[in-house]
Amino acid sequence: MTLVIHAFGATNVGRIREHNEDNFMAGRTVFAVADGMGGHAAGEVASEAALGPLREIDGTTYADGAAATEALAAAVSEANEAVIGQASADPELSGMGTTLTTVMVRGARMHLAHVGDSRAYLLRNGILEMLTEDHTLVHQLVKEGRLTEEQAAVHPQRSVITRAIGVERGVLVDTMPEPLELAPGDQVLLCSDGLTGPVSDALIAEILSSEADGDTACRRLIDAANAGGGPDNITCVLLRAEGDGAAAVPGPVTKAGATDDDATADLGDPAALDARRLAELGAGSEDSPEIQAEERSQKSRRMGAGILGVILILAVIIGGAVLLLNRSYYVGLDDQRSVGIYRGIQGNVLGLSLATLVEPQGLVLDDLPEHLHSALFDGVPFPTLAGARMYVDDTLLPSRLGPSEPESPPTDAPSAGASAGAGDEPKDTPSLPSPTTAPQPEPAPS
Ligand code: CA
Repeated sequence: MTLVIHAFGATNVGRIREHNEDNFMAGRTVFAVADGMGGHAAGEVASEAALGPLREIDGTTYADGAAATEALAAAVSEANEAVIGQASADPELSGMGTTLTTVMVRGARMHLAHVGDSRAYLLRNGILEMLTEDHTLVHQLVKEGRLTEEQAAVHPQRSVITRAIGVERGVLVDTMPEPLELAPGDQVLLCSDGLTGPVSDALIAEILSSEADGDTACRRLIDAANAGGGPDNITCVLLRAEGDGAAAVPGPVTKAGATDDDATADLGDPAALDARRLAELGAGSEDSPEIQAEERSQKSRRMGAGILGVILILAVIIGGAVLLLNRSYYVGLDDQRSVGIYRGIQGNVLGLSLATLVEPQGLVLDDLPEHLHSALFDGVPFPTLAGARMYVDDTLLPSRLGPSEPESPPTDAPSAGASAGAGDEPKDTPSLPSPTTAPQPEPAPS
């Protein structure tokens, strides 16, 4: 039996944003979603730059699974360097960053690498499973038992991310310990938070399960996000694994070029695939001798790795504790309720403080709206100083309460407009055209 992967992708600006800062790629073997952030058009530059190293490895074959995962993670690290490099070369781009969630399909196996709050899901037998973990503040608080999933879903700081491409050198990249074995009927969805914010997992599963056409499925997901307000840019990359038997993905095989959407990539027509691609994507259920040999050697490597693993875990725990104190940051308060960025962790052990103030912010708690207070009392943690600064710049400073306005007497000419529009300017000014293939807003769905 042969497994063929059909790929589809689409992106949409949503209903609120002026720019589409998301980007995606649907290559031969590598697929990715990147959700950029930054002032003006910088987010678009970051998400596009991050895809460069992935394009370079697209279609490459690797000796074994470990090498493939390593190459994918290395490309994500290179993406981090590339974004940092561009940002430091151009002051206009300073502070830009992006998420990056990517998979590589190798035979019937799928490798994954991930940084940020875009997501990868697997839909198998009608059940939708998240393959990635959000690198967000609220997810961290959920893991620590300080928020419930329900509270996190509506939390005002739910978009604060704790890990991103382009923020700090040596970014930690999540990978799966073992590649995922794809089976006929499996669907893998990569998407930005513009989809998962307004659209529930249940609705995503329903659309993917019920829609036979991959392009239409992507479009329906985007429509659902826009129907939910479309607060952010929305991007989907969908992979569908189809066996050559009758019990495969229901419905017709989509033909290349059957879509009028420039941003959709349909690699679905097997006739359009060259022999090399078929060799890469078509995996027999009878594994080739090379793959069997690889599996045997992986097994013996795993046994040896067991003992080494225990030693390593102990080292990591001790090293991690030291690193945590040196590398963790939080935004918190001092005794005078002044806001500052601290290195270390909130609290003390035997009366010994575990944190040092690194950057006072000239801001006191009373300057800020009440919904931010309890988080600041607890200390809002970040893995990097840049992350903590971003939180101050993007969340605290914009929500700073103005000084109580003196009662100004009504003017004689209220229409003079002395204050009309003040403080009302759009955050993003129209800027460079998008360097990407992201399509412009679509006409309202019929
Ligand atoms: Ca987003």
